[in-house]
Amino acid sequence: MTQLIPDDVGLFVRWLIAFGMFSARYLVFAGTAYLVYYVIKRQEWLFMKIQQQFPHRKQILTEIKYSILSFLVFATVIIGMRVVNNSGLLANKIYFHLSEHSVAYFIFSTALIIFLHDAYFYWIHRMMHHPLLYERVHKAHHLSKDPTPWAAFAFHPSEALIEIAFVPLIIYTIPLHVAALVIFGVWQVTFNVIGHLGYEIFPRNTIRHRLFKWVNTSTNHNMHHKFVRCNYGLYFSLWDRLMNTNHAKYYETFDEVTTRRDEGFEKLKKGCIRN
Ligand SMILES: [Zn+2]
Ligand SMILES: [Zn+2]
Repeated sequence: MTQLIPDDVGLFVRWLIAFGMFSARYLVFAGTAYLVYYVIKRQEWLFMKIQQQFPHRKQILTEIKYSILSFLVFATVIIGMRVVNNSGLLANKIYFHLSEHSVAYFIFSTALIIFLHDAYFYWIHRMMHHPLLYERVHKAHHLSKDPTPWAAFAFHPSEALIEIAFVPLIIYTIPLHVAALVIFGVWQVTFNVIGHLGYEIFPRNTIRHRLFKWVNTSTNHNMHHKFVRCNYGLYFSLWDRLMNTNHAKYYETFDEVTTRRDEGFEKLKKGCIRN
């Protein structure tokens, strides 16, 4: 990120820019989702809500507070990488001209970091649920039993550090075009917001579809917040399936939520639901 800024800009200004960019991304993606689902369509779409309730203001403020703390940590790590780069100790492998590698490599490397991040998230997430780490590291994220989009980055600073550690791991080992990192950043925030949306947006047949059954749904992560020791995955259902960690009632809940949603929309179309 900071390689895109002119060289003569000081570290503190770079840190502010990095913090501003993380915050702006959060504000645009989480803010838009919140505005649509929790403000504009709050009453009209209530039948769609996974858990049939709305969180208190205090929970939302806590989610925002921890997210801002996370961005402070993220920005510090980004600047730390800049310092390492400047010192000549270690050079990252980010490249800026597509011609340096093939287009096929660009597509492959983008898909690879998404796949690797999914595995990284699953295993660090399971690790953070260990009793030795849960209270001190991960509990802050679980303060929301029914999360809103604002919970997408609501981590304790120690968890934020573990989460962002994936970035130095990849940029020092895998040649990545800067656009691959931008795509990864957009993909990550999109899935994070969907997971914490509190509403199911995937079609009813998703969990039985040959291809899309491998995608994690909003219901899946919502159940993680409600029941805690299940559904640890992020983007894909691969690791929860392999490790048999999905909640026993995940499919049943997904069916209930999507059936209720689709029937509600039918009634809405016919004008049977009034505000
Ligand atoms: Zn968790
Ligand atoms: Zn979560």
